[in-house]
Amino acid sequence: MLSAATPTAPAPAPAPRPESLPAQIDLDLVQRFDKLGPRYTSYPTADRFVEAYDEQSFRQAMRTRLIGAVRQPLSLYVHLPFCNTICFYCGCNKVVTRDKSRAARYLHYLSKDVQIQAELAGDDRRVRQMHWGGGTPTFLSDHEMRVVWDLLRSHFDFQPDGEYAIEIDPRSCSPETVRLLSELGLNRASFGVQDFDPAVQRAVNRIQPYELTRDVFNAARACGFKSLNIDLIYGLPKQSVSSFADTVERVLELRPDRIALYSYAHLPQRFKPQRRILDVDLPSAAEKLSILARAIDLFNRAGYIYIGMDHFALPDDELARAQRSGTLTRNFQGYTVGPDGDMLSFGVSAIAKVGPTYSQNARELPAYYDSLEQGRLPIIRGLELTADDLLRRAIIVALMCQFCVSIESVEAAHLVKFDEYFAYEIEALKEFEELGLVEREPGWIAVTPKGRFFVRAISAVFDKYLRADKARVAYSRII
Ligand code: SF4
Repeated sequence: MLSAATPTAPAPAPAPRPESLPAQIDLDLVQRFDKLGPRYTSYPTADRFVEAYDEQSFRQAMRTRLIGAVRQPLSLYVHLPFCNTICFYCGCNKVVTRDKSRAARYLHYLSKDVQIQAELAGDDRRVRQMHWGGGTPTFLSDHEMRVVWDLLRSHFDFQPDGEYAIEIDPRSCSPETVRLLSELGLNRASFGVQDFDPAVQRAVNRIQPYELTRDVFNAARACGFKSLNIDLIYGLPKQSVSSFADTVERVLELRPDRIALYSYAHLPQRFKPQRRILDVDLPSAAEKLSILARAIDLFNRAGYIYIGMDHFALPDDELARAQRSGTLTRNFQGYTVGPDGDMLSFGVSAIAKVGPTYSQNARELPAYYDSLEQGRLPIIRGLELTADDLLRRAIIVALMCQFCVSIESVEAAHLVKFDEYFAYEIEALKEFEELGLVEREPGWIAVTPKGRFFVRAISAVFDKYLRADKARVAYSRII
């Protein structure tokens, strides 16, 4: 039985595991486990948030935070939702407009959002991590980006050794803007690329010549930005094994510290812009797998190691080092370097994490503006995690980040008898054990090198909400 006691100290970091993926990925298994599922940037996932968690709940969480004796420096997330044009594959929360003046109104309300939350943060406003995401943060003019930075600096105490990141769209960011961002204090950057092939770029409405990306990327490197990341997507229309291999080769010439390789999920019923992508242009399932296998092979040969779901990094990158030292963690931006403290989030649709709670802002601009106009935080839903949620989150994070779970650490931190509490999950893991993807050793559950690529499916075994969904579907089928 789960004790009602609050978990005490966090579980000690599990032993470091070897990192790289095997040279050959088992493509049959990729196909078998290639189901849509949570990416576990949070657990429980955002679709489990409830409207009963509101602004007052968030204010209470912030008051409780102030009572804590030891507080980690904060992380900040700023959502900047505007984009100049629509990329047809996109499933993000964004506002597509060519009207640059819309940013001014947004920043007006963003400043209210920041001000209210900064007051709730009390006198300990140290910040060690920040991320500007979107949308397209570089949709803002240089002046507006300076305004955002000054706004945050005037309310929070940015630590000198912090990681301050921005997502850069090279189509709307000149080398001069990169230099400005560096002067302001931003020091980490992620570049949206997806594919360099002009035919693919036309098919997804994202025209971005290689030279443009190269110049902005090199400017960031020259300015001292660290942990430079490039995002790629496989499975896009007009892609082939050889065309995407060319893209990967060009990316490798730039030698980013990190590469994120995402799978394109074609869901035109759910994401309207995807209706502009023709089925006939999409690679077949078999070809998509071959594209993936070739890309991974190229990453392996170039010395990149597999961090976990979709992410690769050079061995001396912070993520790889954090994985070796057991301090890698996950938050709404994906993999990050711990400690995993509280995250305040500003802007439309942004998600915050404070203590054992999550909260999300209004997803549409009018609702976001209305709340702030009335002096209220625009929180529309959230969740206070139960002891069971915290336990499962710890296991999912350990699997995703360290590829293993120390049973003793979990039992000590969460006061459970693992084998009894997780009897269902241990049974469900047998499928993965039989396939050689998971090993159960005394005191440990470990994802094997062969299993690392399937860590999302393995982690999902511990997701109680998914299990409830499956039971519901099974039940409705039976009746
Ligand atoms: S992919 Fe990025 S730039 Fe393109 S529409 Fe989506 S958020 Fe905007």
